[in-house]
Amino acid sequence: GRCIGVFTSGGDSQGMNSAVRAVVRMGSYLGCKTYYIREGYQGMVDGGDHIVEATWASSSGIMQLGGTVIGSARCKEFRTLEGRLQAAENLIHRRITNLVVIGGDGSLTGANIFRQEWASLIQQLLDQGRISKEEFKDCEYLNIVGMVGSIDNDFCGTDMTIGTDTALHRIMESVDTISTTASSHQRAFVLEVMGRHCGYLALVGALATEADWVFIPEWPPEDGWEDTLCKKLQAERETGQRLNVILVAEGSIDRHGQPITASQVQNLITSRLKYDTRVTVLGHVQRGGSPSAFDRILGARMGAEAVLALMDATPDTPACVISLDGNQAVRVPLMECVERTQQVQKAMDQKNFEEAVRLRGKS
Ligand code: ADP
Repeated sequence: GRCIGVFTSGGDSQGMNSAVRAVVRMGSYLGCKTYYIREGYQGMVDGGDHIVEATWASSSGIMQLGGTVIGSARCKEFRTLEGRLQAAENLIHRRITNLVVIGGDGSLTGANIFRQEWASLIQQLLDQGRISKEEFKDCEYLNIVGMVGSIDNDFCGTDMTIGTDTALHRIMESVDTISTTASSHQRAFVLEVMGRHCGYLALVGALATEADWVFIPEWPPEDGWEDTLCKKLQAERETGQRLNVILVAEGSIDRHGQPITASQVQNLITSRLKYDTRVTVLGHVQRGGSPSAFDRILGARMGAEAVLALMDATPDTPACVISLDGNQAVRVPLMECVERTQQVQKAMDQKNFEEAVRLRGKS
């Protein structure tokens, strides 16, 4: 059978474990040997007991857990040729020529570079006597399939990334919890949520919690927003509403490119309206806790599809990512999605919001 290596890389997100489990189980079902590569690319470079054979039993009882049980790390060495040579050597000694990478756009880019270089890497390893002729022949091609784990839903080419839905649940639960106390004391609450380039969590979180106002990076409010915001909050209090909730995405800015922060909004409300106003920065709470049903099933479906895609891969087909399109797990070209995602980030940096939103939509 073929050998598959599965690893998680970059930021962790809920649902990654479910994806890993599905890779192990679909691999096993198809007669493949599957390895966990612990701590992402760092484990691939370090080898040793960082690369261990997965079993049906060891992939049991993990889909309920948040984060990633096989670990994730950033790895400087993998950005260098020597690091990638070492990684290739470690894989070849175990005959691993199929990789499933679960991570963000950086991790997927690294995987694609690795695949493009593979022929040259294995030639160098052979020339340096680090692998045998037999190993060389067995490992001529490297197949790669990606899945996107990210709570921000900031990747082009998929409707949802693994972890987004759970992060939304954490935001919703936090607002619900805060609302009970805020209402008792007639307070205003300003919540900062993640999203430096992408306002998805703030926007959808606001819709799901009946927030009074939301700031997102893609839509800087018009000048004079301070007056409009205060008038709105006041009007709501006058109709008997006892609390106010305002969501601020991390990367929010005004029309002049100046950041809009939660504490700035707090100061505005306290000074103008004299409401008791509190700030909550959700931070890592959004990455925490157990994955939602949606993320467990999403990870499971994508993981299974990833293994099927590896089995279908040929030396000529470009690497793909498994994405959610409507309600289907489908294969889309990896580099096209990565490039479009990077273009969106560039457009956001240049404050070209219309272009960013256009690029993010389906092509
Ligand atoms: P994310 O995958 O969440 O975007 P990073 O951008 O930090 O996170 O990438 C995670 C890891 O992927 C890096 O630490 C590095 O090991 C590897 N990586 C990222 N970009 C490249 C690249 N251009 N070449 C080689 N490896 C890369």
